[in-house]
Amino acid sequence: MKKRIAILPGDGIGPEVCDAATKVLTEISRLYKHEFEFTYGDLGGVAIDSSGTPLPEETLSICKQSDAVLLGAVGGPKWDTLPGDKRPEKGLLGLRKELDLFANLRPVTIYDALAEASPLKDEIIQGVDLVIVRELTGGLYFGEPRERRGVGEEEVAVDTLVYSRKEIERIVRKGFEFAEVRGGALTSVDKANVLESSRLWREVVEEVAKEFPEISYSHMLVDNAAMQLIRNPKQFDVIVTENMFGDILSDEASMITGSLGMLPSASLSQDGPGLFEPIHGSAPDIAGKGIANPLATLSSVVMMLTYAFQMTDEAQALSEAINDVLENGYRTADLTQDEKTALSTVEMTEKVIDAL
Ligand code: ATP
Ligand code: MG
Repeated sequence: MKKRIAILPGDGIGPEVCDAATKVLTEISRLYKHEFEFTYGDLGGVAIDSSGTPLPEETLSICKQSDAVLLGAVGGPKWDTLPGDKRPEKGLLGLRKELDLFANLRPVTIYDALAEASPLKDEIIQGVDLVIVRELTGGLYFGEPRERRGVGEEEVAVDTLVYSRKEIERIVRKGFEFAEVRGGALTSVDKANVLESSRLWREVVEEVAKEFPEISYSHMLVDNAAMQLIRNPKQFDVIVTENMFGDILSDEASMITGSLGMLPSASLSQDGPGLFEPIHGSAPDIAGKGIANPLATLSSVVMMLTYAFQMTDEAQALSEAINDVLENGYRTADLTQDEKTALSTVEMTEKVIDAL
């Protein structure tokens, strides 16, 4: 089967981890007789440098013509002094909006071999396997008005939290669908004791739940959810929530593992191409040194194979390969104290390919 994949390496370690991904995808195409066609585009800082804008038209059109988009990372100190609307991160926000990527998925999985990296006790994290489904195109990030008015002591700043029934419905339905696929339960997180938007959210959850009579679900207030994620993360399977709550909870949840270099994400639309990227940033401190951990990006490839291409055997093989290299003790520098045995990005990638 032929699949067109847009590759947006971006900044910092982005190109290094994307190289790892294309190598592994090439190996998968060889093993399973698929054809993956890679088309490269600039996004973020590199795009600002090459064409003056963080999201060039050409990049957008490459993405729209693809079956899936793989992104490295954007941003870095070089562009930090630019005004807010000219920053590399604007490119990513723009891309999410243009591709209508309304559902952001962040799985949090504990690898037994890396359990010691977690700041939480062993018995709390053993077996944690949850996914946060965050609404990505609405809420406080985009609500109007957003403005400053008045001067001096009278000055006020306004942000607006708006959600339409339709926007809530489509993300909540995704949440139920993932719970169904995983054979698990859904927790809907809101702040219905305070926010009107959360009260509508709850109503919609109740309605959509009728379409999924076999799925058990519950509501949880966001402050309680923040606490429960640390106290007893095992209780969660699929969490669905609005944009800002999801932003905060997913960063909190990622720290349960203690390994930023391991965690993938997917952002999906209704029918268009999805975007797959590691959750870590461009890591300017180690960029160009060849030591970045490629496993978060390779896990993002697992999600691409699963959600964009429905290649479940291939996805499982890659996921097992990642697990195998960890079980065999292979570590990049971020995962070990022992510098002498640490593998480079390229070496780690080769270990995964061997395991495949
Ligand atoms: P952003 O604002 O882009 O999210 P950030 O400030 O959250 O970036 P990261 O770029 O994610 O930060 O890096 C945080 C720390 O984790 C850095 O010290 C970085 O070197 C390290 N790090 C991040 N990703 C990796 C990786 N794949 N391999 C090794 N180390 C990493
Ligand atoms: Mg960050």
